[in-house]
Amino acid sequence: MAKSRYTPGGFDIAVKKARAGRGLFAKEDIPKGVCVLEYVGRTLSQKEEYTSRSRYLFEVTKHKTIDGWNKRNTARYINHSCKPNCEVEIHKKRVFVFSIRKIKAGEELGYDYGKSYFDAFLKPIGCRCLKCMSERKWAKVEAKELKANALKKSKALKKKKKKA
Ligand SMILES: [Zn+2]
Repeated sequence: MAKSRYTPGGFDIAVKKARAGRGLFAKEDIPKGVCVLEYVGRTLSQKEEYTSRSRYLFEVTKHKTIDGWNKRNTARYINHSCKPNCEVEIHKKRVFVFSIRKIKAGEELGYDYGKSYFDAFLKPIGCRCLKCMSERKWAKVEAKELKANALKKSKALKKKKKKA
């Protein structure tokens, strides 16, 4: 049988620190228009569709939502991008991530999460994708965050010392 268009290509990819926490990066060049990964997860029951608080829910169809929060689902590390190099395709009620242009080794993978996710989760904190935040601005934000984290650590350390 011929290989399906929807069989993930087995590309070398890695989870690394990214602008938005962690992200998924290509470790080798990925050609345009190929299946990179499948977004896999457990199908929620009808009740769970309303009660689940997972940030990794994916509405596949009106009647099928999957929860991507599981180890097997490497695709959950793909961040939102307003200028994406990937897109999602639904095929036979399954979710596949395709490259929409050639992706070079070292690039972070991203797809557009859609307006409702963007408005609910990204608008309030500001989108950090390459389109929305320049390298220069990001360098400033990152430096600030590192400083804040270091401060938090040293405060925690002081507290510990006091207790001891
Ligand atoms: Zn953006």
